[in-house]
Amino acid sequence: MKQTPESRPRAHLPPLFDLVRIREAFPILRRTVNGHPLIYLDNAATTQKPQGVIEVISRFYEQYNANIHRSVNLLGQLATQEFEEARAKVQRFLNAASAKEIIFTRGATEAINLVAQSFGRAFVQAGDEIVISHMEHHSNIVPWQMLCEEKGAKLRVIPIDENGELLLEEYEKLLTPRTKLVSVVHVSNSLGTINPVKEIIRIAHARGIPVLVDGAQAVSHMRVDVQDLDCDFYAFSGHKVYGPTGIGVLYGKEELLRKMPPWQGGGDMIASVTFAKTTYADLPNKFEAGTPDIAGAVGLGAAIDYVERVGLENIAAHEESLLQHATRRLQAIPGVRIIGKAARKTAVISFVVDDPPLSALDVGVKLDLHGIEIRTGHHCCQPVMDRYGIPGTARISFAMYNTIAEIDYVAEVLAKIVNEAAGKARPTPQVPRELIFPKPFAPSPAVAAAKLIETFDFLETWPERYQMILEFGRKLPPMPDELKTEANRVRGCQSTVHIAARKRPGTSDVLEFLADSDADLVRGLIAILQKVYSGQRVSDILSFDVENFFARLGLDKHLTLGRRNGLAAMVQRIRDLARQIAEEARQEEERLKEETQQRPAKSVSAGVS
Ligand code: PMP
Repeated sequence: MKQTPESRPRAHLPPLFDLVRIREAFPILRRTVNGHPLIYLDNAATTQKPQGVIEVISRFYEQYNANIHRSVNLLGQLATQEFEEARAKVQRFLNAASAKEIIFTRGATEAINLVAQSFGRAFVQAGDEIVISHMEHHSNIVPWQMLCEEKGAKLRVIPIDENGELLLEEYEKLLTPRTKLVSVVHVSNSLGTINPVKEIIRIAHARGIPVLVDGAQAVSHMRVDVQDLDCDFYAFSGHKVYGPTGIGVLYGKEELLRKMPPWQGGGDMIASVTFAKTTYADLPNKFEAGTPDIAGAVGLGAAIDYVERVGLENIAAHEESLLQHATRRLQAIPGVRIIGKAARKTAVISFVVDDPPLSALDVGVKLDLHGIEIRTGHHCCQPVMDRYGIPGTARISFAMYNTIAEIDYVAEVLAKIVNEAAGKARPTPQVPRELIFPKPFAPSPAVAAAKLIETFDFLETWPERYQMILEFGRKLPPMPDELKTEANRVRGCQSTVHIAARKRPGTSDVLEFLADSDADLVRGLIAILQKVYSGQRVSDILSFDVENFFARLGLDKHLTLGRRNGLAAMVQRIRDLARQIAEEARQEEERLKEETQQRPAKSVSAGVS
């Protein structure tokens, strides 16, 4: 069709926000999860990728994969051109003054570590101070702690109030002539707070202190202009802005970057190398040792193109309406409490269920059964959870492709979960006066495992297995409150877990234990561990291959024995207790042996006389 001047799109108009087309662009949104259409609300952890980004990455490998820089061959030149074009896109995206100020890293974490190591090595000394805030992600805490430990410097923390807002008066008081850097998050991933970073930077600059902004949660939700903010460093990750994993960005003011030493040595960051002396490349290569994630950078460039086409202003407006609507819907569910009520928020709602008390973990697992993907736990912000006195939250986080209809569905399912839990509120168990430890489930852990594997083999799907785990949890022998002490608390679990073990009376090497958790799922896992371990000899406990057992149960995919869900922490505690009993038994045996040796041998002659 021939375009008339009227039908031709006018360049100065913002692009239209067409939610249907946006959703079509993300192929993953067409899949189902546990038999339901996927509702993806874990965008603060990572965002989904549009088809265009996926294709650009494939095309890179199909058509011009080669190593960048230093190349006379055509493919190498094409790859370099694409890589540097991606850098230019990031520069425009952040409105940086020069492409030299854009350093590609593995992600926000590596960007912050780069500053901590390089800036820190050059400018931080014993007695100096680094200021961060109470709402930082661990990746903006730990690198500074490491630096402070190395240098004998101190970490100072800006407190937050009950709403999850930084206390700016306190911030000002923390700044002293010893403050060498302020490093704060732009948007909190656990509370959704948008921090007044421009003001924070102005206050620090008035005292000559540079500021790093962790923008991991900001760049996909709002326009960021590093020159307007006047920040000295800005860090973000490609995967949280619709790009691939493995690529991220550190923006740094050229003047500062020039004064900083390189932090990793290797190829591509040098001007010349002799055994006597190496000189370094110009910016930004000085900070990009080794072959970078070339396809990742090209993919990030494509993601930025996509975001710009949709329009950050459009995305921000859409996400604001999602946030408002979801806040209203969740607040209307009795028993649900939102954590983080800052006046300026974006894209994140953290909540807990107080009444009936329902662990975030259970909420997350139950929503997953309905195809709703959220995140639960401390969200790598343990100090935030400690500030609110909670072990973790359930968190929904939005992206441009989420819809009001999805939120309505989530609210309905959540209300149902809360209602059901209220109906089934666990009656306070009748705790008997004397401790009742469960009888051994089988003669050995191996036999117990075989019986459990047989039971689970009948259950084909995860929802069926999940129901079985809950059923086990319902029959868990009660644990008296006086055993729920700090010493019996198992750290590293998303929920609150206690394990109290003893050597079975009348034996020297049999361990038995009681345990409990505030999460139904974890109570079920405890029941499984109890069936396998409790009442068993410590040598059998220690030789039992628990990882293989969980894999055979078919739960390893849902409950990794790895760091996060605490199953590993529980197993570790039980094994430690078993070792303790084994050690006591060994010492007792040695004592007896010594006693026998010291006892004067009965004289035969005496016996005869
Ligand atoms: N900062 C914040 C605020 C984050 O949310 C995250 C990721 N959750 C990071 C830093 C670290 O990002 P990455 O793991 O991609 O390096």
